[in-house]
Amino acid sequence: MDCIFCKIVEKEIETRLLFENEHVVAFEDINPQAPTHLLIIPRKHIANLQEMTNEEQQQLLPEIFLSIRHLAEELNLEKGYRVVNNCKKHGGQTVDHLHFHLLGGRSMQWPPG
Ligand code: AMP
Ligand code: ZN
Repeated sequence: MDCIFCKIVEKEIETRLLFENEHVVAFEDINPQAPTHLLIIPRKHIANLQEMTNEEQQQLLPEIFLSIRHLAEELNLEKGYRVVNNCKKHGGQTVDHLHFHLLGGRSMQWPPG
């Protein structure tokens, strides 16, 4: 499968990796929208949140969010941060491998575009 994030998981494409464990990989976004901008992804290819149809896949969600919590602590985001999941076309998803953006290091605006 020609998935850029699967290639990052397999280390066929280089990134600045910040964290990885059995289930999750976190790396810097190539086009950062904030002083801290990471992507947290499951190792296994899942296209988007709506495609998390079985329990084994769904059990990755707490793994992902606890990794985000861990990273926020490591990266001193004690003032706060934003987690974003762009889901499918109307959500603005451009890479079809489930990922959560962790944005921090500045004050965020609301509403998003
Ligand atoms: P989304 O629009 O939510 O699908 O986000 C995809 C994100 O992946 C964008 O923020 C891109 O900048 C980022 N991205 C695409 N290719 C790479 C790459 N090779 N390394 C790191 N981030 C990437
Ligand atoms: Zn993939």
